[in-house]
Amino acid sequence: LPIVAVVGRPNVGKSTLVNRILGRRQAVVEDVAGVTRDRVAYDAEWTGRRFTVVDTGGWLPDAKERAKAIATQAEIATQTADVVLFVVDATIPPTSDDEAAVRMLRRSGRPVVLVANKVDNARIENETASLWSLGLGEPFPVSALHGRGSGDLLDKILESLPPPIPAEPRETGPRRIALVGRPNVGKSSLLNKLAKEERAVVDSVAGTTVDPVDSLVGFGGDTWHLVDTAGLRKRVAHASGTEYYASLRTNAAIEAAEVAIVLLDASEPISEQDQRIITMVIESGRALVIAFNKWDLVDDDRRYQLGKEIERELRRVPWALRVNVSALTGRAVDKLAPALRTALNNWERRIPTGQLNQWLTALVQATPHPVRGGRAPRVLFATQAGVSPPKFVLFTTGALDPGYVRFVERKLREEFEFIGTPIHITVKPRK
Ligand code: GDP
Repeated sequence: LPIVAVVGRPNVGKSTLVNRILGRRQAVVEDVAGVTRDRVAYDAEWTGRRFTVVDTGGWLPDAKERAKAIATQAEIATQTADVVLFVVDATIPPTSDDEAAVRMLRRSGRPVVLVANKVDNARIENETASLWSLGLGEPFPVSALHGRGSGDLLDKILESLPPPIPAEPRETGPRRIALVGRPNVGKSSLLNKLAKEERAVVDSVAGTTVDPVDSLVGFGGDTWHLVDTAGLRKRVAHASGTEYYASLRTNAAIEAAEVAIVLLDASEPISEQDQRIITMVIESGRALVIAFNKWDLVDDDRRYQLGKEIERELRRVPWALRVNVSALTGRAVDKLAPALRTALNNWERRIPTGQLNQWLTALVQATPHPVRGGRAPRVLFATQAGVSPPKFVLFTTGALDPGYVRFVERKLREEFEFIGTPIHITVKPRK
């Protein structure tokens, strides 16, 4: 979503304005310098257009910055937002702090909307004409408290936003799965078992959107679109050439799918080839279910060994869903469909901006970034930029240690129960 940042001196009414834009009455927090709010970013909507509002009053400046807090706010806002709302108090003349921020905003060349707040009546409104002299264009007189002028302001904000990116329509119909794994792990056996469990279709469907090498398979109460099953069904996979070719084909299947079942042979050590296939899934950003097949061959000794292997070899995908199955006996094969659904749900999940930032603000306050060279970069707010897989952007005052980003990712996964899907985190430091 496009980002609208609200900038202004303490006490000009930023939080009240944010609440007004959100169109709901929230407890208004005193707009006092140095007071941290528990949230800084929210999702808003006006005439069908959605955007994220960032209340920069929630950024607690560190001691050094506090003196020039508002210019700093303005500077960060111009680097992170699509539109900056610069709020002044219309009942008093602009202060030198206002003017410093204005210079900054004008230099940045960003779209700025000048908001003259506390215009509760026509008499005050007449005086706002003098604000043209700030050089930020037309002042928008509003009363954030009473709502006066807020509709016009919202229209102006929408005008200033970049054109909307049309949402990609998600293809409906059966979910696309890739069933992948090195030769002999039991892919064709599992496919046969799955299809038989429900005595349902395993069909190469002609004349539909299903590729001729794909199949529609019914199991677990759903129809699934299995990508590239030609090789599996006909048992030609092993014969069809080099490992290189097989790996290209595996990669293509993963890319064409939404979720991959990586099948491993539980009776054998996790191999490099298994790892390469898991890497393909991570890199293509698909949801992931790891199925350990041939569980009927796993005795207590092997189970113990496997536990240690998983800890060592699958450390990078602690979030993957794991199922222990036997294509031979049918053990736990019915667990696959629920695992696929969970993975897909998380793969497509969107966390509301307010909820995301409430959690994030608490997290970075409890565990701030370690100090580097006398300074600690601060995380200001976050937005979820996309789904499939979930993509998050952290807006910060500087580059973050990779370790800190991993920490944020781990906590994010814990808090919002993101299992079965990769998630991407991008850090946007101000320059
Ligand atoms: P693919 O190359 O991955 O398609 O593997 P196949 O389905 O052809 O299976 C390879 C071999 O493993 C065959 O001999 C299967 O009978 C055997 N197999 C597959 N699944 C299981 C299982 O769950 N348990 C046992 N014991 N053998 C299995």
